[in-house]
Amino acid sequence: MSDYDDSPVLIEPGNPCIFCEIVAGRAPASVTYEDNRVLGFLTVGPVTPSHLMVIPKRHYAFVAEMDEETGAHLFRASMRMAAALRNSGLRCEGVNWFLADGEAAFQEIFHVHLHVFPRFRGDTFKLDADWSVHPPREELDATAAQIRAAYADPSAGRHSSEGLG
Ligand SMILES: [Zn+2]
Repeated sequence: MSDYDDSPVLIEPGNPCIFCEIVAGRAPASVTYEDNRVLGFLTVGPVTPSHLMVIPKRHYAFVAEMDEETGAHLFRASMRMAAALRNSGLRCEGVNWFLADGEAAFQEIFHVHLHVFPRFRGDTFKLDADWSVHPPREELDATAAQIRAAYADPSAGRHSSEGLG
């Protein structure tokens, strides 16, 4: 918890960020969760009914700008919201989590937001992807090695006490 940035939310004059406006109470939102760090609310453009999102109250454009504790708390809040969704009596047979980080990932609002939306048989949500590609193990291992070598903290990314060499 010690690495959490607890300074107040800064809103620059003329900041056009809609999520900062919601946090500041200057734009409307149908709130479903709130604590001192994050805010959850219904989206105005749901992909399925009762589509929620949760945002950090501070403005971070991208995941990499956010401290890990805020990221962890964002997910913690999303878990609570998903559980509430399942218990609410609203239509919810499953839940998808979705976070778009960067324009290439279809991020449209540059304030980190995690989508949490109910799924049910016959809903209209679709993921359009080619699932038929299965790279050989050597390629997966080489890619994994390249990623393991790229952590800012060299102790990160190890999956056992033996380390990965
Ligand atoms: Zn913002």
